[in-house]
Amino acid sequence: MSARLVLLGPPGAGKGTQAARISERLGVPAISTGDIFRANVAEQTELGRRAQRYMDAGEYVPDEVTNAMVAGRLAADDAADGFLLDGYPRTPDQVRQLDGMLESAGTGLTAVVEITADVEEAVARMLKRAAEQGRADDNEAVIRRRLEVYAEQTAPLAATYADRGLLVRVDGMGAIDAVTDRIMAALAPRLH
Ligand code: AMP
Repeated sequence: MSARLVLLGPPGAGKGTQAARISERLGVPAISTGDIFRANVAEQTELGRRAQRYMDAGEYVPDEVTNAMVAGRLAADDAADGFLLDGYPRTPDQVRQLDGMLESAGTGLTAVVEITADVEEAVARMLKRAAEQGRADDNEAVIRRRLEVYAEQTAPLAATYADRGLLVRVDGMGAIDAVTDRIMAALAPRLH
């Protein structure tokens, strides 16, 4: 299966959970920029040091840092036949950079899945996750900022991909299994 997918959706919509499930069903790696950044912060790498203050404040890591990281990750062997990007692209510049990466590889996106979520439900989910996992950027003020940044910088990307005929919108509210089924059903006509 050579699906090349992007998962869009506000923080708390369940992107990470769904990415893991969709990636397993389609046999493509889930690539989460947030997870890669968090691993680098934990390991105190140079990349982690550059990213941490932005993450802690709920702001985006600068495009040049993020783009270089993703370019490196997409060049890995396991992404050659497909991937599911969770949390990238998030800005117009990232969209352009991803276009360039795929063009040089002679490929393109299969679909962009936008998982929609009610804002208050998303906040509640993230507060629950904070209690369970202790993520530094899951306190209420930072959560609200992350939602604001998403609305300002990332939500408009859905229109960009809709114009290209790539966008699939799926309601992210409800049981995890039901949402996975909705995503798979929405993708089915586009997978070959
Ligand atoms: P996430 O786990 O996807 O919510 O990402 C956690 C944090 O990592 C975000 O709030 C940003 O600070 C940073 N991050 C993840 N992906 C990106 C991206 N594509 N562009 C910029 N910053 C990002």
